[in-house]
Amino acid sequence: MILLDRVSKVYGKDSEDAAISRVSLHVEPKEFVIVVGQSGAGKSTLFKLLTREEKPTSGKIIVGGIDYENLKDKDIPNLRRKIGVVFQDFKLLPNKTVFENVAFALEIVGVSNREIKHTVPKVLSIVGLKSKESRYPRELSGGERQRVAIARAIVRQPKILIADEPTGNLDPKHAWDVIRVLERINKFGTTVLLTTHNQDIVNKLRRRVITISDGKIVSDKANASYEV
Ligand code: ADP
Ligand code: MG
Repeated sequence: MILLDRVSKVYGKDSEDAAISRVSLHVEPKEFVIVVGQSGAGKSTLFKLLTREEKPTSGKIIVGGIDYENLKDKDIPNLRRKIGVVFQDFKLLPNKTVFENVAFALEIVGVSNREIKHTVPKVLSIVGLKSKESRYPRELSGGERQRVAIARAIVRQPKILIADEPTGNLDPKHAWDVIRVLERINKFGTTVLLTTHNQDIVNKLRRRVITISDGKIVSDKANASYEV
């Protein structure tokens, strides 16, 4: 569960100029939530508060029973394991194959080779890239690269997947391939938080849509369409 209680984030010194302003929000496990809003509205800031890339100026954040107020630096790796993240630019390692890119996320936390050989192919099947495990990122389409990035984000089985404009660089067909993968991951039980500017995607998904404007939640509707 994700809980925000009157959370604000001010980057600079001027408290009038909050990127996020008294946002309260409740997301249940296994929900699929789309966050929309114009550029600069505060969507990425909201996500960065959840991953602890940024600290709130005020307010309370609790994710999966962890109260961020009591969070120590040593707890952050554990928190990050619970939250997978995918961005608009894929940030894959160019000199590693698809398999190696995904495996790397496990290597850095000390997972055994045996376990890696077992887990990575499974995750690549989920994102539909099993047959491309030996390719390098440059040999893939944008949509395929993004699906590698998703595989990397979910290989440690996070409870929450944050996808911040994951389709921003993709044509409609590849965008939908990525969205279908997010839906599949959600079906397996992962909470998905997605931002997108793609109205067609928002309208067809018919999920909970939260609209942010100027750092505030201005609407929060189930089965909603795009209204920015
Ligand atoms: P969105 O993702 O909806 O486009 P952001 O969360 O990136 O919006 O930005 C919200 C506001 O906070 C914007 O006014 C932006 O300029 C500002 N902002 C974002 N990141 C920083 C930062 N690191 N330092 C200062 N201001 C920032
Ligand atoms: Mg953003």
